[in-house]
Amino acid sequence: MLEIPVEYVKGVGSDRAKLLQSELGISTVQDLLYHFPFRYVDRTRFYLVSEAGSLEQSIQLKGRLRNIRTTGGRKERLEAEFYDQSGSLELVWFAGIKWVKPLLVQGMEYVVFGKPGLFNKKLQISHPEIQTVDDFEAQPGSFQPVYTSTEKLKSKFLDSKGLSKLVQNALKQFHRQIPETLTMDLMYAANLISLSEALVNVHVPKDSTSLSRAIYRLKFEELFFIQLFLCRQNLLNKKEYKGFVFQKVGQSFNDFYNHYLPFPLTNAQKRVIKEIRHDIGSGKQMNRLLQGDVGSGKTVVALMSMLIAKDNGFQSCLMAPTEILAKQHFLTLRDLLQDMPVHIALLTGSTKKKDRNQLHQDLQSGLIDILIGTHALIEDEVKFANLGFVVIDEQHRFGVAQRAKLWKKNISPPHVLIMSATPIPRTLALTLYGDLDVSVIDELPPGRKPIQTIHYYEEKRLRLFGFLKEQIHLGRQVYIVYPLIEESETLDLNNLMEGFEAIQRAFPPPQYRVGIVHGRQAAADKDFEMQRFQKGETNILVSTTVIEVGVNVPNASVMVIENAERFGLSQLHQLRGRVGRGADQSYCILMSSYKLSSEGKTRLETMVRTNDGFEIAEVDLKLRGPGDMGGTRQSGVEELKIADLVKDNQLLLLVRQYAEKVLSLDPNLSSAQNAILYQRLEELQRGRVSWKRIS
Ligand code: ADP
Ligand code: MG
Repeated sequence: MLEIPVEYVKGVGSDRAKLLQSELGISTVQDLLYHFPFRYVDRTRFYLVSEAGSLEQSIQLKGRLRNIRTTGGRKERLEAEFYDQSGSLELVWFAGIKWVKPLLVQGMEYVVFGKPGLFNKKLQISHPEIQTVDDFEAQPGSFQPVYTSTEKLKSKFLDSKGLSKLVQNALKQFHRQIPETLTMDLMYAANLISLSEALVNVHVPKDSTSLSRAIYRLKFEELFFIQLFLCRQNLLNKKEYKGFVFQKVGQSFNDFYNHYLPFPLTNAQKRVIKEIRHDIGSGKQMNRLLQGDVGSGKTVVALMSMLIAKDNGFQSCLMAPTEILAKQHFLTLRDLLQDMPVHIALLTGSTKKKDRNQLHQDLQSGLIDILIGTHALIEDEVKFANLGFVVIDEQHRFGVAQRAKLWKKNISPPHVLIMSATPIPRTLALTLYGDLDVSVIDELPPGRKPIQTIHYYEEKRLRLFGFLKEQIHLGRQVYIVYPLIEESETLDLNNLMEGFEAIQRAFPPPQYRVGIVHGRQAAADKDFEMQRFQKGETNILVSTTVIEVGVNVPNASVMVIENAERFGLSQLHQLRGRVGRGADQSYCILMSSYKLSSEGKTRLETMVRTNDGFEIAEVDLKLRGPGDMGGTRQSGVEELKIADLVKDNQLLLLVRQYAEKVLSLDPNLSSAQNAILYQRLEELQRGRVSWKRIS
């Protein structure tokens, strides 16, 4: 659509075209029309200077200037007094003075837009937008669009206003050539205006109703094509990759279920196993994301799925992000399977050469049923006789390329189950993993007491130590975690060591035993310490976040997080999930200094308020925005131009339904009426590298 070079828009020309391309990535008329305003000024609403002091937002004022002056030596500033009938305030500029100064004329009437603030007890607006009343009134519409621009563009007079002018020219010239991208059916069903009407009104709104209808239509379209792409990808995967058919639920599965499963499954676990069984019996390759909060019991679901694979003559593997975790999975599964004729093995970076060779043989001969390990699993020399099922634990640490490598280990790609203990809000899941099927374990095993979370400031340290002693005397164990953030690693390590020494002083041997693990230790030392703690030989384990994922010591009932304000929400939640795994009441204590940012405060309050991982994920998404959430970098989420995954989540769910409906009626988008959808999708895929990279 409108792939005409932007150069041909009146007022652009070749110099400005180059600049638009390099500064804003705008090279066609289409790009220009999709450069949406990031906000609007309601041109009909003027505030008085006397109201300005009490408002926390940007406002529009009408008044005159006096006392225009430049002050300061090398750090020049431009100041002017702005007044209306109610009072006066200062306008200040620190940069771009040579552009602004010529525009300011004593006594002339101006419209000013900006956010008032107090400086030296005097009200001022720094870097306001300013234009003469005449210029202001010459612009059409009652909402004035405001566009992102850059310093370089501004120097060529392409500030927000300049861009607005170009967009209006483009609309005048090419308005009739704007094709529709959605079908009549969709527009009718979802009550949408046409694309050309939407583009006109988003840039030059007639009134607030037209504006909101325009925005709605454009958001719908943006989300719709992403969902259409993802849903279609999902269908294509299923068609392209014939999965192995695991029809039987046989001896191993039944034996395990009837004789060795140590607890009744929760309803959620049963439901998820059913979903998996359906997938792997369907003849299509499964790509399923299993989301479940920490402690919800994903491991046993994985195990039972792998047993089905065995019953159908296939091998499985389970890949974990760290050695500690891989080993722990291995031990857990070995225990569960100890009386069953199922062969499982462990492969990590530290598996000895001799064992490794034997393991390679046993794998190729088909002797091993289940292989558990770290990244070592994807190395080329690891060859399976018949790999049919792959479980990936904590997937966000594995790249797409690594997954692809696993796929190559058999003639057909194996079924893939990705387990994640980082709940993500449904809207984000739909966008990030929209091409996967999603299962959720939304229920914890019975009998768990909710973890009590407390936030302490530093002054309560003695009380904390007293509490820990009580717990230790009851036979419980304690984690104490310190932040370790890469940029300040040395400093943090010192911090950890100091903390460790302080803890040792407060908990002296022989009465207490304290261990320590951190990333700089040799693997063997780390292992040794982990095992001592696991066996109950140490009361307290001081560590960095290496224990973050998956570690399971049911007797540990207290998690202390030092400098808790420095952790992100999902990390705090992960850490807290290390306790509360046994029958005892567990505690999470968040230690922080008094200096808390408001975001830090919200994070800690959220942790104290709720144990629900999905609720926490929602707050996290709101605090950080989707761009910062794990995995989104490569997902196209940050390329959203107008929709917002947080604010528009209802719309996203609706759009998803429309996309699914369209594809259920016409999976290949081959009908005449869907041709425009097909075309637009192709066009978007060509233009967006990241879309191709989605798993
Ligand atoms: P996660 O989902 O965090 O990986 P795990 O699979 O490690 O959780 O399970 C956490 C703990 O809960 C384990 O000790 C496991 O044995 C136990 N568990 C799992 N399912 C059940 C159940 N249905 N009833 C009781 N305990 C269970
Ligand atoms: Mg787990």
